Amino acid sequence: MARSAVAGTSRKRKDAPAFPPFPRRFAPEGLDAGSKQALDPLFMDLEERPLATPEDLVRWLEDWSELASVVAEEESRRYIDHTCHTDDPGTEKRYLEFQREIVPFVKPRWQHLKQKFAAAPHRTQIDPERYQVFNRTILNEVELFREDNVPLETRDAELVAEWQKITGAMMVYFDGKDRTLPQVSRALEETDRARREKAWRGIATRRLRDRNPIDAIYDEMVRNRDRRARIAGFANFRDYTFREKGRFDYTPDDCRRYHDAVAELVVPALRRLHERRRKKLKLKALRPWDLAVDPEGAAPLRPFAKVTELVAGARDIFARVDPNLAKLFEAIRDRGNLDLDSRKGKAPGGYQCTLDAQRVPFIFMNAAGLQRDVVTLLHEGGHAFHAILCRGDSLVLYRQAPMEFCEVASMGMEALGSAHLEVFYGKADAVRARRVWFEEILRIFPWIATIDAFQHEVYLRPDATAADRRAMWLKERRRFKGGDDWSGLEEEHASSWHAQMHPFCVPFYYIEYAIAQIGALQIWRNARKDRAKALEKYRTALALGGSRPLPELFRAAGIKFGMDAKTLKPLIQAVEAEL
Ligand SMILES: [Zn+2]
Repeated sequence: MARSAVAGTSRKRKDAPAFPPFPRRFAPEGLDAGSKQALDPLFMDLEERPLATPEDLVRWLEDWSELASVVAEEESRRYIDHTCHTDDPGTEKRYLEFQREIVPFVKPRWQHLKQKFAAAPHRTQIDPERYQVFNRTILNEVELFREDNVPLETRDAELVAEWQKITGAMMVYFDGKDRTLPQVSRALEETDRARREKAWRGIATRRLRDRNPIDAIYDEMVRNRDRRARIAGFANFRDYTFREKGRFDYTPDDCRRYHDAVAELVVPALRRLHERRRKKLKLKALRPWDLAVDPEGAAPLRPFAKVTELVAGARDIFARVDPNLAKLFEAIRDRGNLDLDSRKGKAPGGYQCTLDAQRVPFIFMNAAGLQRDVVTLLHEGGHAFHAILCRGDSLVLYRQAPMEFCEVASMGMEALGSAHLEVFYGKADAVRARRVWFEEILRIFPWIATIDAFQHEVYLRPDATAADRRAMWLKERRRFKGGDDWSGLEEEHASSWHAQMHPFCVPFYYIEYAIAQIGALQIWRNARKDRAKALEKYRTALALGGSRPLPELFRAAGIKFGMDAKTLKPLIQAVEAEL
């Protein structure tokens, strides 16, 4: 908590506050961004204000940005409240009210402002370097916007909330009581194979019970998204989403080349890894519940029992990476912006969400006492540092980097932090935890290829049935699977993509993780050569936020942007050597 300064004295504080406030100049403090009446005069001002000089235009952009960050923060708060309490009808109602009332109200107004910017006479006279990315982004959005798509986008958000409600309510009776799926999944790391199988089957059976309603939600999502693409003049949602996500630096063909590179370079490495695992476990066949247990038969890694221990340990890791980062993490904690434990009624997964007006991050996750939770908190911590390091930019658009680079910030922090896992473990277990992290890399590249290739196919065949999609999924699974045996589990296998939130909530947002992991592995290699320099470049690149194009952000971090076999090969070799 910030201490209050004594008015009228010149006494200096020992520490500057971690999040010095940015005084508002346009949207008044206390503005109710959930009220159309309160927002309307501010939009009117921006819509009608004359932009006679370049200075007028710059000031107008900053005022617009301030209003946008206040509205975005209101939406984020309601999203956070809803995902923390999906079983509270009040939080759901407030989130949906915002989606139904405010989003359709502000979207055309933002559009109006974007058009006004596109037509502004001084647009090309303000600092072309500073506004290069802004120009490109806004002009792209002006071209893509269709008023008719606003209700379809609202419907999409409603469907996402429905999916979250169904999956958030999933519980399995295990060890004498109803437990959340993340809680039950802890048992997948245990050495007792019968218990692992029971836990795995419990989760899979529970998911299958809601297969039909989930398929029905996805059906409507796919058709709805396809319609939006066609309304905007695109042949399919894939092509639309590449433009909409501002993927200026790679194409669907680059993604296909990534899929091929993974099939050629990573899948064989994963199969070797799994074959070693099968032999060590002395099994005839490696089943899906045999993938998370320690192959040497050691008890599961249990880095912490209570969330407070997770927080303290993560703080210590950040301190070893960079004491300044640890201070930032403490400030997030002291502000109450961590919701980390897994409990009934909480939406699945983990995320970092920035409160754009305060310019302060919030971290959400479902910790269940696993090594994976440590990695998740390092990951979301990386996102949070990104948000803080670039919070000084006056344009909210530049306080958000392209997703491909956001994930370099988070995965880069995983890579840098993994060197200090001794904080949670003895030496031998720390080595083992690091090993798990590297093994995970060999799993994640093929998994990303599977999810991505699947979505390419889904949106090129929007009329496919749920059964067709199951066949599509299995086809990709055969190509990228690591030799694990799913025989007798055909139904579970065919719907196993249901466990992944991205196809539902953020379609096509997944390849970013591969691009970023390739970047993060380069940071890891750079840090082995020169730790201080790698960290300095990491911070420099994060501080740029989204103010530069993607390849430039990569360059600033001392790494190369690329997703082809040539870039991937030496990294996979280094990972295999490390293992
Ligand atoms: Zn992330």
